[in-house]
Amino acid sequence: MKIEIQDLLIGKSDYKNVSEDVSLATIDFNNNEYAFEGPIHIEGTLNKIEDGVVFKGNISAKVKTVCSRCLDEIVKDLNIDFEEEFKKSQDELGYKINDNYIDITKLIEDNILLNVPLKTLCSESCKGLCPVCGTNLNKSTCSCDTQTIDPRLEKLKNFFNRD
Ligand SMILES: [Zn+2]
Ligand SMILES: [Zn+2]
Repeated sequence: MKIEIQDLLIGKSDYKNVSEDVSLATIDFNNNEYAFEGPIHIEGTLNKIEDGVVFKGNISAKVKTVCSRCLDEIVKDLNIDFEEEFKKSQDELGYKINDNYIDITKLIEDNILLNVPLKTLCSESCKGLCPVCGTNLNKSTCSCDTQTIDPRLEKLKNFFNRD
């Protein structure tokens, strides 16, 4: 998403308020794909600084992810405060101003990836999946014997069963 900042650059005004809804389909990160429920809302203020602008504000989004234990889909609210600089000259740390506008898509992606939880649970008491049949134990029960046989006992059993 592009935001025009001509007035700031030529000194016609000192600040600009931003309040936008952005639709990002998905963000790929470390082989995880994050999808969003509804638009991502970004708002804040752009202030003129030497050689550019500083953008201070807040991002709110609902990110869809899965429970690390039972793999059920869950939606997490993200609320992220940020402060980033956009410079006319290339800067390793900041973002670059293009002609008379800034593109805030990367800023949004970067801040979401920094704040998205890597492991999430649908609830602290999630029972997870049965390791044998895969039943979601929050929703139903199964009759699997989940007491796995100790491999040392398995050897002993085979020893006695010889011939
Ligand atoms: Zn769960
Ligand atoms: Zn089972």
